[in-house]
Amino acid sequence: MSMAGASKQTLQFLGRRTDEHEFFNPIPRGYKKGATKYVVVTGSVISGLGKGVLTASIGRLLKKMGLNVTPIKFDGYLNVDAGTLNPFRHGEVFVLDDGTECDMDLGTYERFLDSNLSSMNYLTAGKIFKLIIDKERAGKYLGKDVLFIPHVTGEIKKIIRELAMKTKADIVLVEVGGTVGDIENSYFIEAMRELAHEEGRKNVCFINVTYILEPPSIGEQKSKAAQLGVKTLMSLGIQPNIIICRSERELFYKIKEKLSVYSNVPVSHIISAPNVQTVYEIPLLLKKENLHQKICSVLGMRKKIKKISMNKWKKFIEKVKNPSSKITVVMAGKYTRLRDSYVSILEALTHAGAANDCRVMVEWLETSRRDNVMKKKLEKADGLIVPGGFGSRGVEGKIKCIKYARENHLPFLGLCYGFQLAVVEFARHVCKLKRAHTTEVDPKTPHPVVFLLPEQLQKEYVGASMRLGVKDVEIIPNTLAYRLYKKKSVRERFRHRYEVNPEYVQILEEHGFVFSGKAPNQPIVQIGELPSHRFFMGTQFHPEFTSRPLKPHPIFDGFIKACIE
Ligand code: GLN
Repeated sequence: MSMAGASKQTLQFLGRRTDEHEFFNPIPRGYKKGATKYVVVTGSVISGLGKGVLTASIGRLLKKMGLNVTPIKFDGYLNVDAGTLNPFRHGEVFVLDDGTECDMDLGTYERFLDSNLSSMNYLTAGKIFKLIIDKERAGKYLGKDVLFIPHVTGEIKKIIRELAMKTKADIVLVEVGGTVGDIENSYFIEAMRELAHEEGRKNVCFINVTYILEPPSIGEQKSKAAQLGVKTLMSLGIQPNIIICRSERELFYKIKEKLSVYSNVPVSHIISAPNVQTVYEIPLLLKKENLHQKICSVLGMRKKIKKISMNKWKKFIEKVKNPSSKITVVMAGKYTRLRDSYVSILEALTHAGAANDCRVMVEWLETSRRDNVMKKKLEKADGLIVPGGFGSRGVEGKIKCIKYARENHLPFLGLCYGFQLAVVEFARHVCKLKRAHTTEVDPKTPHPVVFLLPEQLQKEYVGASMRLGVKDVEIIPNTLAYRLYKKKSVRERFRHRYEVNPEYVQILEEHGFVFSGKAPNQPIVQIGELPSHRFFMGTQFHPEFTSRPLKPHPIFDGFIKACIE
């Protein structure tokens, strides 16, 4: 490319380029170097260290200092988004306001930062490659070999800078999924190295989260694996500024010294992050280590450093750890073996539990179990949740659990699929519509009380094609929903293909089912309840996605209150 194609601003930024370069401009128009600083979190040794929680906690501390912090998560898989991933293997699919189906870490960011994120905060390898291939087909790289460097790394840097500009962030907090040394994130890490080179070392702070082994047979902490992990990062051209060590116990000073020697990171910047009782303690733990101040001094932002108070957060943790009462909630579902597949529900229960000074113990119930096993669990429970789900496995068992809750006045909360199945149960056993079902499970049912949303009929693709994201819900006065929300209109997040069949609404209502939440301009019912019960409610949306530690969701709050009673 001739130099004429590169803007003056880019040349100032990147220096002179010759015609030999497959030149790519990674600087968005109007971008100002230094206006935004970057904190890049990588992981080494093993995955599953809680890098997402650590990143979110760093975000909370920086935000508390008054900085405008925007997170972005990079995931190395070739899926364009998380919507097609199996929550049993990958963990929950979290949904953002704009309908983005993403990794559960985004849920952690939203909860810790108390802010609503968008598709810009989530980047997968699939999304980057799709963008590049679409651009290539459209002739946007005409005449060029499209290469990992500069095109792939360049597009990544551009996306991150665009995020910085759009959100006017003081700090963009980048979490690189996976561990250093993976093929999946290698070009992303390379992009971060280039970013630091272009922005200047004072504008980018690298944090490596690593693991300190403590094999029981040896009985002491060992730093070798961490050393090798950091070395791998350094061999990719990245010198970490700070290392966070995950470990079973508090880090021994001698381990800090050893790691420091091998990594060029001062002992003061090697942070101990031992196991804690609840993830919400992590921001406090990092605050004690002054991590936020250390980050600011790495980034030359000393003037921004100020004391922060986290009193409300501390009180919340107190209630999480030492509440005065305890209840048991049965969670009936398909993926009961994996805590991560229901993480937002569990967190929403924790938030509402803390607000009501109560510990919520969750009993998992695999609904393909025998009837008497299920009944025994339900008899001991204070409440039942039937969460979202897809397909036919365990469905009859879920319906039996709902029947038990309805007949025995056990507080019940049905989320999405749980709501639809509560309608099926009511239709079958109260309205006496024999073999009523959702067409998702029985396409030939004589009573399709739940059926495919009409708008779904023309959908060709499976990816990102459900009814997704935040929608208005009109709340009907004189209902439980209204008493909980105390508002006539709310906005909630959806992710579904099926809905309650409007043709059956009247017969369901005639038998006592009340639809207390509706879509304003469509015949879609979005909340259902039984006024004859203390708490029997189903929601077509997912209230769990918007519950926050210090602001529990009103529906979860109401459910917990009913369970305590
Ligand atoms: N399978 C149901 C639907 O597609 C429920 C989805 C869900 O629970 N998220 O409508």
